[in-house]
Amino acid sequence: MSLKVDWGALTGVDDDYHGLMANNVVVCPSCGTRNRVPAVASGIPKCANCKQPLPWVVVADDLNFDEVADSSKMSVLVDLWAPWCGPCRQVGPVLEAAANEHVGKVKLVKVNVDNSPQLAQRFDARSIPTMLMMRNGQTVARQVGAPSAAALKAWVSNNLG
Ligand SMILES: [Zn+2]
Repeated sequence: MSLKVDWGALTGVDDDYHGLMANNVVVCPSCGTRNRVPAVASGIPKCANCKQPLPWVVVADDLNFDEVADSSKMSVLVDLWAPWCGPCRQVGPVLEAAANEHVGKVKLVKVNVDNSPQLAQRFDARSIPTMLMMRNGQTVARQVGAPSAAALKAWVSNNLG
């Protein structure tokens, strides 16, 4: 099963994004239905059509990172990226595949550093892509640059805790 993230929707959001109004759309890996997943929820998002758990892929920024990532009960994989960054476009789909592989265990939070200067500073993201694994608001692992897909997936698995 491969995860298809609706990049059109995500990209459209990034340019004109206001906190929790994000249009976080993921395509259900089981039935192909497009679902809007909440940026914040107590449980895990499920497909409106087939009720299977959905990979949780959301967009966050300076305004809502607290609520979306720091307060998450689930492990959070943060992707610090920017639209102009070629290696970021390589790792993006790998991270989404990892979120799909570990449904219910990890929330993938995509942060466009161009729109989130405070987060770029907080995580010292001078080089992107920078990926973080966080639990309870603490960074437990950090990966800078674009490793191979296999190495990146292994990094995610090894740091899920
Ligand atoms: Zn479904």
